[in-house]
Amino acid sequence: MAQILDGRVVRDEIEKKLKAEVEKLDPKPKLVIIQVGNNPESNTYIGQKVKFGEKIGAIVDHQKFAEGVSRQELLSKISKLNSDSSVHGIIVQMPIPKSLNKDEIIEAIDPQKDVDGQNSINLKRLMENDQSGFTPATTKGIFSLLNFYRIPVEGKYVAVIGRSTLVGKPTALAMLNHDATVTVAHSKTRDLKKITKLADVLIVATGKAKLITADHVSKNQVVVDVGINVVDDPTDEKPETEPSGRKLIGDVDFEEVSKIVAAISPVPGGAGPMTVASLFENLIAAYKKQT
Ligand code: NAD
Repeated sequence: MAQILDGRVVRDEIEKKLKAEVEKLDPKPKLVIIQVGNNPESNTYIGQKVKFGEKIGAIVDHQKFAEGVSRQELLSKISKLNSDSSVHGIIVQMPIPKSLNKDEIIEAIDPQKDVDGQNSINLKRLMENDQSGFTPATTKGIFSLLNFYRIPVEGKYVAVIGRSTLVGKPTALAMLNHDATVTVAHSKTRDLKKITKLADVLIVATGKAKLITADHVSKNQVVVDVGINVVDDPTDEKPETEPSGRKLIGDVDFEEVSKIVAAISPVPGGAGPMTVASLFENLIAAYKKQT
């Protein structure tokens, strides 16, 4: 049985550290979460962020807009938040309706407050290995998880499965910055198994439930499963984060893969909690830059 890379344990460590830091800060760091519409999964993720923020003593202001909110209204809101000195971080919870231009909305956030690290200035800084930017929270979380379990990536073969701007690409870039040799695979990749089997560290972020099976992995590998897939759960045994009658599973067939590899992060309880904790690490860093 593989070693479990337990994101909840690491999150709790980060929580303690941040709580002690925030206690000493006055005014308190403030994060604004903008949500457009009422996507149930977004509601869950925002709930986790609000809860974590409260635990460490930060202020989290969840601002909800109707599905039909206009581009102007949203941009003007972001502009006000940019110039509000009591606000240190701004994130827009994805997805937003297709009628809005996602890039335009993200670009409107002041790079100093872009604690999700999604606007072009922060992504460029990541590309250049310039530490003054914010690393996207999920990528940062993957590194904190690996660091906690003393898994260096320097010189290792790392395969990142998925190439989104949110997870796959920034994670691949950060791996390069940490001197890993990186392969990025995606939906058009031929012979995925060949790539996944060769990796020392396999990061999976596709949103395809159980895409990675026992046939994709080999001994001594470290697997980080970023995927979150909501599936029906006839047994209805609900761990903390799951909606009734449904359960969360990753992109990796945990039961089978964990029998083979050296270490693996579970879903839930792996990359998810790390993302939340990393977002607040970015918020505290943003606060320090602005005050
Ligand atoms: P996305 O849909 O934007 O990107 C998915 C990527 O997977 C694409 O690049 C696509 O090419 C690739 N892909 C799809 N099918 C594939 C296949 N059969 N083989 C190889 N590659 C394939 O998704 P995303 O925003 O990157 O999120 C990916 C997953 O991670 C989702 O399940 C999402 O919910 C989850 N996620 C988790 C966290 C967290 O905190 N744990 C944070 C963000 C996203």
